[in-house]
Amino acid sequence: MNDYQKIAELIFPGGESVDEILKRYPPRKLKQTQQVTRFAPSPTGFMHIGNFFPAFISYNLAKQSQGIFYLRFEDTDSKREIKQAKEVIYEILEKFDIFPDEYQTLDGKDVGDYGPYVQSQRGSIYRAFAKKLVAEGKAFPCFCRKTEGKEDVLKSRQTKFEEDDEKEYDPCRDLSYQQVKQHLDNGEKFAIRLKTKNDGSERVKFFDLIKGEIEAKANSKDFILLKNDGIPPYAFAHAIDDTLMGTTIVVRGEEYISSTPMHIELFEALGFKPTCYCHNPLIWKIDENGNKRKISKRNDPEADMRFYFRQGYPKQAVLEYLLNLINSGFEIWRKNNPDKEWTEYHFGIKDITTVAPVFDIVKLSDISKNIIAGISGQDLYQQWLEWAGQFDKNLASVLTENKQKFVKLCKMERDESAKPRKDIYNLQMMKEYFSYAFEKPNLENIAEKQNFVDFINAYLASFKMPQSNEEWFAHIKMVAAENGFATDNKLYKQNPEAFKGNIAKACLFARQAITGKDNGPSLYYIIDALGQSETLDRLERAANLQI
Ligand code: GLU
Repeated sequence: MNDYQKIAELIFPGGESVDEILKRYPPRKLKQTQQVTRFAPSPTGFMHIGNFFPAFISYNLAKQSQGIFYLRFEDTDSKREIKQAKEVIYEILEKFDIFPDEYQTLDGKDVGDYGPYVQSQRGSIYRAFAKKLVAEGKAFPCFCRKTEGKEDVLKSRQTKFEEDDEKEYDPCRDLSYQQVKQHLDNGEKFAIRLKTKNDGSERVKFFDLIKGEIEAKANSKDFILLKNDGIPPYAFAHAIDDTLMGTTIVVRGEEYISSTPMHIELFEALGFKPTCYCHNPLIWKIDENGNKRKISKRNDPEADMRFYFRQGYPKQAVLEYLLNLINSGFEIWRKNNPDKEWTEYHFGIKDITTVAPVFDIVKLSDISKNIIAGISGQDLYQQWLEWAGQFDKNLASVLTENKQKFVKLCKMERDESAKPRKDIYNLQMMKEYFSYAFEKPNLENIAEKQNFVDFINAYLASFKMPQSNEEWFAHIKMVAAENGFATDNKLYKQNPEAFKGNIAKACLFARQAITGKDNGPSLYYIIDALGQSETLDRLERAANLQI
């Protein structure tokens, strides 16, 4: 045994060897074209759109190639971990119908042969690889106390390092077996650091599947592989896990490019084939002042994937919007294939945008309007009810108690219409959109009060529940004509002074009296949904408005 091997055995006696571990993780039996991708979230209680984005790309790459998409929790930073965080991630994936092929259930059962799919349960694996690197002289125990719980303390203790502009060598990198033993005998804790083979003058080239070849300064830091609590930071844990789990493409945000040289050196030291990285551009936003900035958890509610559910955007709308951000070609495909499921859309890595996409809620709402326009009235009611059950319990009871009315409202200019209305873009807005179904209209701000009251009195006097849209319109047209409104727009335009307004104005007065709104679906459907006594009550209220 040489000194390195002796040190390795001293700090990590016994345990499973790397060779034994590798046997437990045999290569997957897949065709070369089948991709294995993953979503590797840190459970922080929040799913950022910037994390969901690469996860969604990964999911698609796996599904399109009949490969494997797995979920791995990167929970080694226990200080940041929040209770329920795993539940949040499962819930969001499930709501978007994104089901990983391999994962760990919430009650701790692994589904798949490459688990555990939770990093905090893989401590012995990381330790075995760290031990191997120490035995090979590629890593070493570091007894500098400040390493406790910190991922990268190089900056906070730079003075201790043998450093020049080029390299950051740890003072413990050349400790002898005797010195290591002495530290251990003193009961000191240790971290494990990589002994970088570089001196800061080297450059490294790596290939990114989206960005092509990237050249950067090679790593020249003795960075931490295991903290002194035995837990690995991201770099070490992901290198081992992505390899053992047979990952073929790692899609992650481009914020990881700067640390990729570290990862490359690590892969080399571990004797692993380098991972195929695919660094996706981050999502940006134009703020109120017209400045472009990264979408942020602090400033943008839409950065949190739960936002879309709280607002009641259909999942299909959100996913299709993201497909648009991944590849603008999706929009053309959607136009040419209006009836296909989004899952039938295939894109390759070369189709993934290289330009940072800008998040635009108006665009999302446009997609959403089209999708909601295609839902039947009955289904829209049902979705609204389910949404309310989760986010607005009072609303849910009102919707249940008045089912018939709300189903009718949801059906307006939708089911029988060749051109359904496209003014609803999420479920949250529907309460305001149908405000007249919840309360009597506010008539305070009616303009031309005298004309309004006069017309409503006349309308009320001859009002009879209409049986069809045509019958309703014929009646209001008649009342309008009898009360000084033009029913022919040409005539009105020629001589507007001769009239109190045109037929559109008469209809507007009736709409305001019944709904308090200036536009919306044909009033006939609203009257039909509200029913005779409620409609008459509202017309009377308006007819008696104080001027
Ligand atoms: N746990 C890392 C994160 O949540 C994963 C990055 C990766 O996909 O490799 O950012």
